[in-house]
Amino acid sequence: MQFSELGLSAQLLSAVAEQGYQTPTPIQAQAIPAILKGRDVLAGAQTGTGKTAGFTLPLLHLLQQQAIPPKPRPPRVLILTPTRELTLQVYESVCNYGKHLPFFAEAIYGGVSIKPQIQSLQRGADIIVATPGRLLDLINQNYLSLAKIEYFVLDEADRMLDLGFITDIRKILKLLPKQRQNLLFSATYAPEISTLAEQILNNPVEISV
Ligand code: AMP
Repeated sequence: MQFSELGLSAQLLSAVAEQGYQTPTPIQAQAIPAILKGRDVLAGAQTGTGKTAGFTLPLLHLLQQQAIPPKPRPPRVLILTPTRELTLQVYESVCNYGKHLPFFAEAIYGGVSIKPQIQSLQRGADIIVATPGRLLDLINQNYLSLAKIEYFVLDEADRMLDLGFITDIRKILKLLPKQRQNLLFSATYAPEISTLAEQILNNPVEISV
C-alpha cells in the first residue's frame, strides 16, 4: 500500500513525502480511508503506531474539501488529548502535515499563562488541540465556542479516563453539535472505554493494530 492510494490531496502527499515517510503504517492504511468516507472510527492503537497521522491527514483533507467559512472562522476540528506533552506533539503534527494548506491550529493546555492562548484564539483557529481543563476554562470565559465543530477526536481515551477527565469530557460533549464525525483512539479497552465509545460514536468502523 502506498500513500498515493489512500485518496489524500496532493498537498498532503507532499507534506508526507517531506516527512520522509515511505509507506502508511497499518493504522494509517485502515483509518485514513474510513475517515475520508465520513465514518466514525474506534481505533485500538498505541503511541508509536503512527496514529496521529492516521487521524490528522484525513481530517486536513476533509477540511480542504470544504469552502472556508467567513471570518471570524470558527474551529471545526477538536482534538482532545490527556496531557500537555501529547497536545504539543499532536499540534506539531497538524502543523507539519498541514504546512501546504491554509489552516491554522492552536494548542490549548494548562500550566502556562492563558493570555497567549486567548490571543491566538482571537486570530482564529480551524483546528484546536487541547487538554480538557484549559479548554473548558476558555469556553467558560467566552473566548471559544464549540458550536461549529464538525470533527471530534478523543486521543488516548484510556489515559483520559485514568487521569480523571471523564466529567470534563462529558461537559465538552454537551457543547458539541449533534451532527459531527467522531474518532476515538485508545491503547486499551476497559469496559469504561466501551461505554464512552457507545455514547460518542455512531456505527463506528473498528480498527485495531
Ligand atoms: P504516533 O504513533 O502518531 O505518535 O507516531 C509515531 C512516530 O511515527 C512519529 O514520530 C511519526 O513521525 C512517525 N510516523 C508516522 N507515520 C509514519 C509513516 N507512515 N512512516 C514512518 N514514520 C511514521
